[in-house]
Order: sequence, then structure tokens, then C-alpha cells
Amino acid sequence: MLQHSPYLLYSDGKGNIFEDTSLYATGRAGWDAFEVELDNWIELPEGGNLYELPGRKGIGIDVQTGNMRLCDKGWAVAAFIPPAHTSLFLASFETDKDAPTLPLFCYTAAGWHNNKTYVTAVRVEKDIRQECAGYDEKEIASGSQWLLQQYPQNRLVKHLMQTCCMTYHCPAARNFSMHRWECPVPASPACNANCFGCVSFQPKEEDITSPQDRLTFKPTVEEIVEYTVPHLINAPYPIISFGQGCEGEPLLMWETIEKSIIEIRKHTNKGSININTNGSKPDAVKKLFDAGLNSIRVSINSARKEIYTHYYRPNNYTFEDIVQSLKVASDNGGWSSINYFVFPGMTDSVEEYEALRKLIIDTDLKMIQWRNFNIDPDWYLGLIGITETTEIIGIKQMMQLIHDEFPSVKFGYFNPPIERIKGNFEIDFAHH
Ligand code: SF4
Repeated sequence: MLQHSPYLLYSDGKGNIFEDTSLYATGRAGWDAFEVELDNWIELPEGGNLYELPGRKGIGIDVQTGNMRLCDKGWAVAAFIPPAHTSLFLASFETDKDAPTLPLFCYTAAGWHNNKTYVTAVRVEKDIRQECAGYDEKEIASGSQWLLQQYPQNRLVKHLMQTCCMTYHCPAARNFSMHRWECPVPASPACNANCFGCVSFQPKEEDITSPQDRLTFKPTVEEIVEYTVPHLINAPYPIISFGQGCEGEPLLMWETIEKSIIEIRKHTNKGSININTNGSKPDAVKKLFDAGLNSIRVSINSARKEIYTHYYRPNNYTFEDIVQSLKVASDNGGWSSINYFVFPGMTDSVEEYEALRKLIIDTDLKMIQWRNFNIDPDWYLGLIGITETTEIIGIKQMMQLIHDEFPSVKFGYFNPPIERIKGNFEIDFAHH
């Protein structure tokens, strides 16, 4: 257990990272730096990385005076924490005026103590599906080759194996190549939203690039059904998920998805059919649940209409539509989750907490996936017009308050398989 805050980390700008033992590390929420309570720090989990932040100076607490001051020894450092863990504080830094916009990653507070790296995070998910130790490179390479030979004419399998699995190293595509758990089904080359931090499309004039390129073709029902039916029949805890990071909005392809679900369910009732979506078309969502969809995950940066609309910049749909899509899921006995982009200082503000409570009550929500928001903090707050931090609760405290008031609402990081939706949600994957 830590006796004091870990020491601040800085970099020499050449990829070398050092601790500054004259400064304790702090955490950021909104626009402000804070001393972080010791029980918010955990050792950096396996699979995490450290980043140097060009043109930024870290903010620390002077070990002698207790005053906050900048570290002038080098660039600030932040951590990318692995999936299944939620960030409690951002890295705190001051940004030079000509500093470059940071790429689309999450920037969690990090520090150093007793030869270990610490981060402000909490594990919210038992499921081990994206543990980096669980990926076998040889099995992935042979598995992707086998799938390409098995489905030589299938453009979707070709995209998933050659691009997603072997180029982007997408965890879902790698699990598909290992014939297990959640299998991706990207379907849409277009989107009806314009998120600033879109991971599959960034306008040329933007400084940052999208980590993936958007799908360029519309898959057919045959291409979707051909590989998803065997996966549902043979994989452990099988899920097939429409709506991936390498596409636009799947609901724009709802007719193809509807026909695919109907065809799939003619062959097997095994597993869960899920859609990750922006929730923009509740009528289409109804059609998909009628066809046999099991679960929906709606992505939101906020449960407040104005914050949501500022970021998503929706075309021909409104915040009310996404609320309606979640209601449709519950009304049709489906599993409904939100893919909740956690941003300390925004997510745990009193206003957001109240809005989230209302969303849970209005939609009978089943699950919150507390995901880290992969975006440059200064850039994001500037884009949505946030100039100061309002009263905050703390991410961990907010999770506790929501859990205490809504004990049936599940917390996690991944879409649950049908075994958790219909059976024991607390399945211990490590031993199954
Ligand atoms: S909804 Fe998804 S695909 Fe569409 S702009 Fe937003 S992040 Fe991109």
C-alpha cells in the first residue's frame, strides 16, 4: 500500500522516462489538477503503456512545500491503461500554445514508486477476453490463414483478417482468429454522426488521424451469415457484434442486418447477437429486436443532451432518438448497455450524475460499460465549449452511488455473452 503519492514522471522527449522525486504526481479532472487519494492508485496493469506528451509540462506537488508547481525537467507523461480498467483521473499538465494535438488515446495519470509504475484506475470487468497475455501470436497467424482459406470469396473475412487482425491488431478480430468469444461484424461504410474523435474517419483538415480506416464496401447477407453461424455454434461464450471501430453507423445498414439475423437464427440459437451503435434509429432497432437481436450497446460521451450534441454533431437524429433506442431494447426484453466514454471532470460532475440517473430510470438500462475516452483532454473540452470544471464527485464515488441506487445495473467493459445475460452474470472467466 502506498505511504504517499507516487512521484511524478517526465520524459526527455526521446522516449526515455524518469521520476522526479522532488514532486508527487497529481491527477486531472476537467481543467483542474488535484492531489489524488492513495486508494485511487493501482500498479499499471499488464498491457498498459506510458506516453510522453510533447509540448506539455507535468503538474506535481512539491515534496517539501506541498505547493503545486510545474516540472521543468521535461515533457509530461501519461499512461494508456488496458481494457477492463477505467481511468479515475487524467494526467495533469500545462500545454504550450504551439503544442500538437494529441492522438486518439486515453491519457491517465501515472506516477512512480518503489520501482513500479502506478496509475489512477479501477478494474471494472472480470472478463478476460482482451488480456494481452491471452493472445497467442502463432495461433492468431495460423487461425487467420485458416479463415482466409475457409472463406476465400468473403470480403468481410478478408477485411477482418488482413486489415483488422494482422494490421490494426484489433482485439475482437484476434479473438475471432482464435475462434473464441466476441466476433466482429462491421457492416457500414457510412455514418450519420460527425464525432470529433471518430476512430474510423477524420477530416483531412484535422491535425489528428483516425486509428482505423472506414470499411469501403457494403457486406452482403451471405458474407455475414457464412462466418458468423460457425462462430456462434463452435466458439466458447459466443457473441457476434455489429458496429465496430472500422466502420460508420451499422443502423444505416439495418435491412441487411435484419435479414442476416433472421438467416442466422434459422441455423442456430446459440450465443448472443449484439449491435454496437450510436442508437440514432429507434424504429430500426425495433425491427432488429423483432428479428432476434439479443443486445444493444449505445455509445455516448454524456447523458446530457447539450454535451452529447456538441460532440456527436448528429445528422437527422437527436439525443431523444438514442434514449428511445435504449427504451425499445428494454421494452423488447433485450439487454441494453451504454458505451460510456469516461472523462474525469465531466463524467463525475454533479450535473452528469443526475443526467445518468435519469437515463437509467427512463430506459431501464441493464449495464454501464465504463470506457476510457480516447481523446486529447484540452482539445475535447475546447471543442464542446467547457471553460471551467464544475463541482465533481469523483469517478469511483460516482460508480458507488450509482451501484447503491441501482444495484441491478451491471458494470463492466465488454458486451456480455448470453451466459451472463440470461444466467449467472458473475461467471469467473479465468476459470471457465
Ligand atoms: S458514431 Fe461512430 S462512426 Fe459515427 S462519427 Fe461517431 S465514432 Fe465515428
